Amino acid sequence: MKDELRFETQNSAAGSGPDACYVPLNQGAAPPSGDERRPVLLPEPPGELPARGYRNGQIASWLYKKGAREWSEMTDLPRRLREELEREWRISEFALVQAFPSSDGSVKYLFTLHDGSRTEAVYLPYADRKTVCISSQVGCPAGCVFCATGRMGFGRNLTGPEILDQVLAVAHHQGLAPREIRNVVLMGMGEPLLNYQNVAWAVRRMLNKNALAMSPRRLTLSTVGIPRGIRRLAEEGPGVKLALSLHAPDDETRRRIIPTAHRYAIAEIMDAVRAYFDQTKRRVTIEYTMLRGVNDHDWQARELATLLRGLVAHVNLIPFNPWEGAPVTGSGKKRIRRFAALLEEAGLPVTVRWSRGVDVGAACGQLALKEG
Ligand code: SAH
Ligand code: SF4
Repeated sequence: MKDELRFETQNSAAGSGPDACYVPLNQGAAPPSGDERRPVLLPEPPGELPARGYRNGQIASWLYKKGAREWSEMTDLPRRLREELEREWRISEFALVQAFPSSDGSVKYLFTLHDGSRTEAVYLPYADRKTVCISSQVGCPAGCVFCATGRMGFGRNLTGPEILDQVLAVAHHQGLAPREIRNVVLMGMGEPLLNYQNVAWAVRRMLNKNALAMSPRRLTLSTVGIPRGIRRLAEEGPGVKLALSLHAPDDETRRRIIPTAHRYAIAEIMDAVRAYFDQTKRRVTIEYTMLRGVNDHDWQARELATLLRGLVAHVNLIPFNPWEGAPVTGSGKKRIRRFAALLEEAGLPVTVRWSRGVDVGAACGQLALKEG
């Protein structure tokens, strides 16, 4: 059966306003594609690709270096082998790929998986690097109140190949070779540490010299704070960068906005984060979405500075990206600047991360399967 990858590009019909983009998509699953072949990205290590001997090296090179999306492109394989492979193995994990370009250069990708569920990734070009933000789950079970993905609820875990193929598919549709994507952030839909094994599989493949050959320093995993997952990641040691979505320095505030905070206290999460640093020696990023009247008070900035004292950390203040029906609003610019200044005075490195892709619903926390 032919790999039916369709590709559509739609110019954003959205206006420039941040909330002009919410055109609700039929949220149920699309019909399954009927493609039941095995994912060619599945076998591990890459040496176990379906052909024999040096042919596997050729296939790996087509997939990961040249970015082939069809068996027919692999012209140095004998035709019979290509046909055999095509019958049994699929290259793309997506039945449909739709792109929604933002006016700021980022592009939101909506992927329909073969079982009809959907997920999203975002392409973020910067002057010095090309980044892809990928998802780990369909929806998210964590249910943070400020996050559109959390509001959707949980669909299912993505498989390893579905996580990895987001990078390959985005590269392909951007006209890039896969290895031109040097930065990947696991900050799309879902909580990566609640889908640990599949995420770890995809991460290993991204780092593998025969696959995407990425540097672990250029791969960031963002978590809401699942202590056992953080510790496991430290022990198993792919050495990727860790970003912790803290969003409050005190348990009481955190519990108001993050349901998993009822289960894991900040102290327990911070112990795991310190263990991660001890193991990897990588500076940890602390993410903090600024919510008006909730976590943006002066005392909270001071408490945050105290909490982070002694940890090699960098704070990213994220202005809230609005979405329809959100029960919270964002702090104003002045408040954000004041909060940042207080942290700086306390000696913490801080950046305010103005999100991109807001006009197409591609910014942090806006990913909720809406078209454009
Ligand atoms: N589940 C992971 C990764 C995905 S969310 C996590 O929570 O870390 C990526 C980042 O976007 C997180 O820091 C998250 O808290 C933040 N975020 C979620 N909704 C947001 C919104 N509406 N505006 C700004 N940031 C948001
Ligand atoms: Fe899930 Fe992260 Fe959104 Fe929370 S912020 S609901 S953990 S995706």
